Amino acid sequence: MIAPEPGGGPAWRDGWLLRARALPSPNFGPRPAGATIDLLVVHSISLPPGRYGGSEIEQLFCNRLDWDAHPYFDGLRGLEVSSHFLIRRDGALLQFVSCDRRAWHAGRSSWRGRENCNDNSIGIELEGLEYETFEPAQYEALARLCQELARHYPIAHVAGHEHVAPGRKFDPGPGFDWEALRRATGWPAERFAGTQPV
Ligand SMILES: [Zn+2]
Repeated sequence: MIAPEPGGGPAWRDGWLLRARALPSPNFGPRPAGATIDLLVVHSISLPPGRYGGSEIEQLFCNRLDWDAHPYFDGLRGLEVSSHFLIRRDGALLQFVSCDRRAWHAGRSSWRGRENCNDNSIGIELEGLEYETFEPAQYEALARLCQELARHYPIAHVAGHEHVAPGRKFDPGPGFDWEALRRATGWPAERFAGTQPV
């Protein structure tokens, strides 16, 4: 399906946001029949942790990471994962999997009574570290992406990996400012896991 942007040509093709840099990953599958894609799951990642700007994240998601290049990578050996999007520290946007397909980002997870969040969610990785803060350019890019996704999919919830896999995952972590994202999107607080009272 091709959805027109308000001011121009098509914004999407087959679940690919055309303005994002496409780096197709082999790590995806079909979504279950009848899946409603209404959840955004926000993550953070850096490889090796805390080092920004390299191409290791892309390599991991495309199964091209050299496991021997860094001691940390040894623990990831053989891992097959992906995310739909990655937002780099400067706000640059990359896409690895069509949003119409199921990417492998959330693992064992549940949100609002539904298990296996990969089935009905879109995964967005922010280049970063769980206990560090994120760049203004990343909030801008994420808010813009949220708006674009909501024009194309019935997005109703935004949660962190830490919310859909509590106790097992901790990203994006306390350094992520949910209120800043809420303000930037203009969406109601109820839509965000991170702005809910605990
Ligand atoms: Zn994560």
